[in-house]
Amino acid sequence: TGSRPSGARRVPLSPTLAINEAMARKRREGVRVLPLGFGEAGLPIHPALARELAAGSDRGAYGPVAGSAALRAAAAGYWSRRGLPTEPGMVVSGPGSKALLFGLVMSLGGEIVIPTPSWVSYAAQATLAAEGALQVATPPGEGGVPSPALLADAVVRARGQGRRVAGVVVTLPDNPTGTLASEQTVRRLCEVARELDLVIISDEIYRDLVHDPSRQVPSPAAYAPERTVVTTALSKHLAAGGWRIGVARLPEGPIGETLRADLLGVGSEIWSSAPAPMQHAAAYAFSEPPELVERVDRSRRLHAVVAGAVTARFEAAGARVPSPEGAFYVYPDFEPLRERLAADHGVRTGADLTGLLLERYGVGVLPGVAFGDDEQALRMRVSSSLLYGETEEQRLAALATPD
Ligand code: PLP
Repeated sequence: TGSRPSGARRVPLSPTLAINEAMARKRREGVRVLPLGFGEAGLPIHPALARELAAGSDRGAYGPVAGSAALRAAAAGYWSRRGLPTEPGMVVSGPGSKALLFGLVMSLGGEIVIPTPSWVSYAAQATLAAEGALQVATPPGEGGVPSPALLADAVVRARGQGRRVAGVVVTLPDNPTGTLASEQTVRRLCEVARELDLVIISDEIYRDLVHDPSRQVPSPAAYAPERTVVTTALSKHLAAGGWRIGVARLPEGPIGETLRADLLGVGSEIWSSAPAPMQHAAAYAFSEPPELVERVDRSRRLHAVVAGAVTARFEAAGARVPSPEGAFYVYPDFEPLRERLAADHGVRTGADLTGLLLERYGVGVLPGVAFGDDEQALRMRVSSSLLYGETEEQRLAALATPD
């Protein structure tokens, strides 16, 4: 009915971007807003990383679709040091892991199983680039991984109806819940994926922000190496989301070869390559020089302290909160307070609650519905401004000071 052309498949503006716009509107009205909706650390770029980007700024030529040899070698080293032996030929870079995930979903086609709740973009990407998302609930307390038993049921049922299911996405550690699935659950998921011939996409963008550094991230690439793609980026642990650079680690063998060819085909027609200066800086970042390792470690500790404090406050207020183990989110569920919120504030849904927080308190958060979840849950970024000084630099300094 509209006058503008309409594609067959459309999705609304990503909720994470929409919250930014709502907050910008409040700011224009002169309201001081605390932005806890968007998924970024709010820390400054490390000066050494900024210097590397400047050093790469004279790179103006088109490069290979998969990315520069230097970046692929550095990313291979990064994964190999984490117990996932990687050859540079297995690495493909792109303008953000979001773009790589889109390319992978498009390459897979078919329906894509995603955990509920999960990162806002998986379902939208599956709608845009493949045959839609098949939502499967996670085991209690283990966000980011579809329950293996429910996954098997859902896929068998869908296939029984003649639908094609091609892959399953996991997030380790998880956004939005901040939890990290157990090794046992991931191993079981890998068995089911192998039995049902599903490709696993393991989104490990928060891997370096697991609160307890002795805790191993149970990557499916260790248990189902022949069918697991891993993605990551500089966006979260190095607070460089605006740089738009990410990397994927494809499996070796026939599944990996097909996927790699298809992903490079998609990439060659959409982005040509990741921006060359960003690749140069990312090669430096993935080589993990001590100054960046130290920064990541400090920000990891910062998020752990704030997540713990925020969780305790929400629990004291009567909300249910999954114990955060990584990333920089907490995901309180206000279901136990449903009646009181309705009676005192007219709040019936998580979206109502999000609206109240922005209008009344100037706090921007995201409702659980944005993650395909419960009406009464919301995701809050655990900004260090909740506990420490005015600027993120001051907060980093505060943590560096011994107690
Ligand atoms: N995956 C998850 C779970 C995320 O939270 C995000 C960022 O919000 C991304 C992927 C995308 O990151 P980028 O495209 O910046 O690499």
